Amino acid sequence: MRILVQKFGGTSVADIDRLKMVRGKVKAALDQGYKVVVVLSAKSGKTNKLLDLSTRWAAEPDLAEVDSLLSTGEQASIALFSMLLKDSGIKARSMLGWQIPIITNDEFGRARILSIDASRIHKELEAHDVLVVAGFQGSTEDGRITTLGRGGSDTSAVALAVALDADICEIYTDVDGVFTADPRIVPTAQKLDEITYDEMLELASLGAQVLMNRSVELAKRYGVVIEVLSSYVRKPGTKVKEVAKKMEEMKISGIAKDNDVARIAVVGVPDEPGIAFRVFNTMARSKINVDIILQSYGKKGTNDISFTVPLQDADAAAEALSELQESIGFDHLSVDTNVCKVSIVGAGMMSASGIAALMFEALYDAKINIQMISTSEIKVSVLIEKGYADQAVQAIHNKFFG
Ligand code: ADP
Ligand code: ASP
Ligand code: MG
Repeated sequence: MRILVQKFGGTSVADIDRLKMVRGKVKAALDQGYKVVVVLSAKSGKTNKLLDLSTRWAAEPDLAEVDSLLSTGEQASIALFSMLLKDSGIKARSMLGWQIPIITNDEFGRARILSIDASRIHKELEAHDVLVVAGFQGSTEDGRITTLGRGGSDTSAVALAVALDADICEIYTDVDGVFTADPRIVPTAQKLDEITYDEMLELASLGAQVLMNRSVELAKRYGVVIEVLSSYVRKPGTKVKEVAKKMEEMKISGIAKDNDVARIAVVGVPDEPGIAFRVFNTMARSKINVDIILQSYGKKGTNDISFTVPLQDADAAAEALSELQESIGFDHLSVDTNVCKVSIVGAGMMSASGIAALMFEALYDAKINIQMISTSEIKVSVLIEKGYADQAVQAIHNKFFG
């Protein structure tokens, strides 16, 4: 049995006309002799609406119930699409996460997949040609519905491809593939034919929402090739794989921006050993991920420690740190949510010099001030004022890609 996993995102399932296009893609795979596992998202906007709803019904909504609510978006998509397939004579059925089951841990809202029962899928595929599976959801061992985190249907699709030992996982979306920058921000962005797992993982983690980073992590670990391609047009997309062909003149692979960051500054900490440990240990104990860190000289023999955290964790970070004010003896805290992280990613950076300088020159030309910088082997990130984010992405793109 040859099995193909195809995932379709929110805009691809938004209405009946688009679902008919999706049906066309599924039929093409059936014509090639595949049995197809289709993974669907909720229609675009639906998950946000359900989230809003939950906050209107409860001041602090129960996380397990929120997941139960959110999962209904995908449930509607798979039921409707299965009807459409059956109506055109295709042997299909829908399957929710718990029906397979896709077992996850109990971190509601960001659950991790622990196992998938592939034998059940194989059995269903003997009786059906297409299985339409709800993305983004799973179930705990004791039967509570979970969701995998925003963009999680990508991860569902790759995890199913891994469980079914498929060589490739097709991710259909509303753009033609992975571009050198978000094509909605940079109209001249170029589509990449191929990109390495490592570069895609960085781009996804740094804000390029085209793939959820955890889906890339999984694909890398199990050697599943992901192809990102358009739901609407028939042309090759971008292959995400271990080694990628690249034009030699490409200094970087892409640019990403992340608006979901905040900068915390602990101002006037004593200049003595153990302070950084206490600050970041507090963050770790509160399960808050810290990204860019900067320590600079402050007033009169003190230091200032600044760092970035995910925007949704800013309040919790400030609260946890204010409890330390007396014992550490710092002057004050400041929280800035009017910031954005812009990053360039490229494996070629390791062997080329002056890449970071080019990025900084682009920002200088555009008169955009850099507040913080961080680098790794394959990326450079800068923190800038939020209002300049798109302008910065465009300016950097012009510098590297003309
Ligand atoms: P889906 O609903 O299909 O999962 P998403 O909205 O999650 O789609 O992801 C697709 C979107 O990702 C595109 O519409 C595009 O605006 C955005 N995007 C951000 N960065 C990139 C990039 N480098 N290449 C392609 N798309 C990108
Ligand atoms: N519907 C979910 C979301 O909007 C999952 C997904 O689309 O991948 O985040
Ligand atoms: Mg998505």
